[in-house]
Amino acid sequence: MLSVHQALAHCLADIPDPIGETVEIWHALGRVLAEDVTAPSPLPPWDNSAMDGYAVRSCDLVELHPTDGDCCDDGITPHADHVVLQIIDTIPAGTVSAQVVGAGDCARIMTGAPMPDGADAVVMQEYTKAVDGHNDRIQILAGAITGQHVRRRGAEVNRGDTVLHTGHQLTPPSVGLCAAVGRAEVRVARQPRVAIVSTGDEIVPPGKQLGPGQIHSSNTHALAGWIRAAGAIPVDCGIAPDTVAGTRAAFRRAMDADVIVSTGGVSVGDFDVVRQALREEGAEMRFWRVKIKPGKPLAFGVIGGRPAFGLPGNPSSCQVGFLQFVRPFLRMFMGAEKPYLPCIDARWAQMMTKRAGRAELVRVALRWVDGSFQAVRTSSQSSGQQMSMVMAHGLALMPPESTGANKGDSVRVQLMSDVFGGAETPDYPW
Ligand code: AMP
Ligand code: MG
Repeated sequence: MLSVHQALAHCLADIPDPIGETVEIWHALGRVLAEDVTAPSPLPPWDNSAMDGYAVRSCDLVELHPTDGDCCDDGITPHADHVVLQIIDTIPAGTVSAQVVGAGDCARIMTGAPMPDGADAVVMQEYTKAVDGHNDRIQILAGAITGQHVRRRGAEVNRGDTVLHTGHQLTPPSVGLCAAVGRAEVRVARQPRVAIVSTGDEIVPPGKQLGPGQIHSSNTHALAGWIRAAGAIPVDCGIAPDTVAGTRAAFRRAMDADVIVSTGGVSVGDFDVVRQALREEGAEMRFWRVKIKPGKPLAFGVIGGRPAFGLPGNPSSCQVGFLQFVRPFLRMFMGAEKPYLPCIDARWAQMMTKRAGRAELVRVALRWVDGSFQAVRTSSQSSGQQMSMVMAHGLALMPPESTGANKGDSVRVQLMSDVFGGAETPDYPW
């Protein structure tokens, strides 16, 4: 029986290079970049105002108390309570002023408008006061240091900078950044198509009336969800009966996918025919059974150059096996720079018992208690149960040799989502 690391090494041994395709950024959320995105011009493209207010020459206002910054330290003692400046222009966003701000001048300016020549700072509207009867003059009530409330050209990004790298998974802010540097389209990795073959004489699709001894195929749909969550495309290849011929036929339907995932039929039962069916379809089987709980009877082979994962039928085993072995493959297929689920450290909320031998991945809910995360085991850990997965935020990782843990002991938890970014390595604590 293989360790988790050994099994993972087999699963990830032959990852093809990602294939790029061009998509509109409107549809690019969640996709993995297949190119470096560079900035053709600086961000911001020109000096501009960060406030609604007045563009000024800071040297005209040395008599005033500054509103912020430490500009009093240069020995100048402010002594006036206001300075009157001449308003020579009004600059809305989207307009470039043709005026030059000279001594005693200022320009009314809006947030995002380009700074006029001659001005080196902006005084916020809130620190000004109208001059009665004079629209062309303004009282400035506070000083400014050079650069105050000015967003400098190139302060964020220089021309030619790479702003996003190949392998980055596009998030809402990074899609926004693509737009900011002028990209309407980006090259992203093609999403793998993942065929789902469910097996079992007792399995029927939801929506269909159950006969005696039958259950609905929850695995098909949980897997489809996990496949989508990983950024790939699920393809339902139906439910195979527990016969070699029927299972072979289902695998043949799966052959135009990039990856094949089956559920059930890989244990030691009399009707567990998945491995035989794969072999007879020409698969080279690489391993069967992993020292992991749940998920031990997991099979992996390669068929026509594509990986075939034979996941166990029990819902938790199936999903945990998917997360450990299939998901990293899918993320790497797309060239994701951080293909693994991230881990955090938490403390056990209760005592845990365990037998040495297999790594145990305990479904836990996380809650924040006294400055650290507490891992609370979710309901029954029976691999046939669904609720423990539904309520879990992550999988607490108990090493193979562990024989248990006390309440309060530290434990690493693999999160079941990578919303805050994935991890470069699996980070198993063994
Ligand atoms: P197996 O691995 O085929 O022996 O199945 C183990 C357990 O998982 C059995 O109780 C099956 O009924 C159940 N099972 C298998 N496939 C599915 C499925 N697609 N959805 C829900 N439960 C399943
Ligand atoms: Mg079965």
